[in-house]
Amino acid sequence: MGLSHLVFDLDNTLYPPTRGVVERVDTLITTFMTERLGMTARAADALRARYREEFGTTLNGLMRDHGVSPDEYLASVHAIEIEELLAPDAALLAMLRALPHEKIVFTNGSSAHAERVLACLGVRECFVEVYSLERVAYVPKPERAAFESLLREIEVPATRCLVIDDRVDNLRTAGALGMRTLLVGCAAVPSGIDVAVASIMDLPEALRSMEEP
Ligand SMILES: [Mg+2]
Repeated sequence: MGLSHLVFDLDNTLYPPTRGVVERVDTLITTFMTERLGMTARAADALRARYREEFGTTLNGLMRDHGVSPDEYLASVHAIEIEELLAPDAALLAMLRALPHEKIVFTNGSSAHAERVLACLGVRECFVEVYSLERVAYVPKPERAAFESLLREIEVPATRCLVIDDRVDNLRTAGALGMRTLLVGCAAVPSGIDVAVASIMDLPEALRSMEEP
């Protein structure tokens, strides 16, 4: 059986890192930590590095150690002017429309952020579902439980799903659960990953190579 579902990450996957969205969110995360927790920017950066390493996301660490409300955090750190950074992408829209697979978004961002990004890119109509952090009980990728929640929700065997993401750690977890994996933004294929492409626009060609009998 071939692939039926394409599971897309959002940030730095559907648009390239050069758009600077993630940098702006990063700045707001540091601001949230300095203002809300009263720490220096330097201490905030060090803590974020540790949280990402230990818990997958800064939010997960802040929830566990500081009792931060996830909704408050997500609203603060996603309050960026996305419209200044992203524009409708007609080529991306045409590419996605031409693929017959069921397409969903699976992001560690909030639902509001995901909807804004997809609207700015002009591709919202291509996705049947958006699984944001709220939809998976705030358990982030790359935790195994995040992908297990997703698979339960979509009710599709892991082997029929291709996960498309710019982070190797996310893909390694997906691969361990039997999902196929495609890394975006890298020409070389890291160990444990099925396919790597420089740009999301290379997806159709990658799919052809994966689906060849
Ligand atoms: Mg990403």
